[in-house]
Amino acid sequence: MESSLKFGTICAKESKPNVTTKPHVLPIFSTSSFEFENIQQGIDIFSGKEVGHVYARYGNPTNEAVAEKIAQLEAYGCVAEASAMMTSSGMSAISTLLLALLQSGEKILSEGNLYGGTTELLRKILHPIGLESVFVNLQDLNAVEHALQTDPSIRLIYFETPSNPGLDCVDIQSICTLAKRYNCYTVADNTFCTAYIQQPLRYGTDFVIHSTTKYLNGHGNSIAGVIIGQDRQLMKEKVWTAMKLLGSNCSPWEAWLTHNGMKTLHLRMEKHSSNALALAEYLEQHPSVSKVNYPMLTSHPAHELAKQQMKLGGGMLSFELKGGLQAGMEFMKRLQFGSLAPTLGDVDTLVLHPASMSHVSIPREMRLINGITDGLIRISTGIEEEVDIIGGIGSALGG
Ligand SMILES: *Cc1c(COP(=O)(O)O)cnc(C)c1O
Repeated sequence: MESSLKFGTICAKESKPNVTTKPHVLPIFSTSSFEFENIQQGIDIFSGKEVGHVYARYGNPTNEAVAEKIAQLEAYGCVAEASAMMTSSGMSAISTLLLALLQSGEKILSEGNLYGGTTELLRKILHPIGLESVFVNLQDLNAVEHALQTDPSIRLIYFETPSNPGLDCVDIQSICTLAKRYNCYTVADNTFCTAYIQQPLRYGTDFVIHSTTKYLNGHGNSIAGVIIGQDRQLMKEKVWTAMKLLGSNCSPWEAWLTHNGMKTLHLRMEKHSSNALALAEYLEQHPSVSKVNYPMLTSHPAHELAKQQMKLGGGMLSFELKGGLQAGMEFMKRLQFGSLAPTLGDVDTLVLHPASMSHVSIPREMRLINGITDGLIRISTGIEEEVDIIGGIGSALGG
């Protein structure tokens, strides 16, 4: 190929793809900015007269396609519409949303046993800048109403259901009804369930967030998050502005990996759930186990509520070993099946003994308050064959 350009200019010049047929699979738009056809288009896009992309921190076609799919799933069969925005992680979804909605002096109502990072965010980052959190037991609706009645600066209720690692359930509809009466926003972390199992928007929740790192991706190969909201105006004016200015946008590569994983979400959630139920039933009758926490067991304290708001039980469960800390560590040493990885929602089974692993540096009294007992084992049940999961966990239990 002949060119009149010098070597260095050819090196620096942008190449254009020769695309005459459409790519079948979503492409990764790995570009920091977008070119305008001419000066007029630039003016129109910047002023909002014409829709278009400008700079990838403001919006990227790969991210938007993935966010749109997630919005459709969360709204599926229950609300007219929802819009969504991908973020760089689950944590940035939470921080971006809370900073977008609240002003200094306004408070968040939540509970003690949230995802560890969320509790730290509320205490270490948001509290010092004037966004204080009030913690109550969100299963106790009288306590929720009392807090809302006595403290009018509470402007938002933040919850997770089922919770980590105790699998406690919060009544989404009742919480949202109370929140509306007191003019508060509601935010649900739906990471454990995904929209296949539970749709908080159906019960009146204003915003849903996810760590897509977990079940939505499902294959443990990306870190990303998403914010979904019913109010398009609020999403555009407040949440998008906060995302753009905090710089919490998702990398299109991570969004693309999430999209790839989501194609089998429905199949995976069915298998995660049937395996977890079978494992929970097996564990419940095991002589070394004193308690099993799984919402679809009739012994679960919120089983009736769980059946109403969840289609299936999901893949997460935890159980208590009779022998406490020693038994927990021995179980982990004997375990030949699954991985000891501090994440969840992957296709393979992941096992955690919080007292000796994730929570080892937290004082015993503190972790006991949040339900992290000495002999508690948390399992993210994978999609392997059921007999192998039960066989693998069973042999580590020594029976
Ligand atoms: C992992 C997790 C988060 C944080 O998400 P990252 O993607 O790690 O930032 C938030 N909530 C829950 C329930 C999680 O499991």
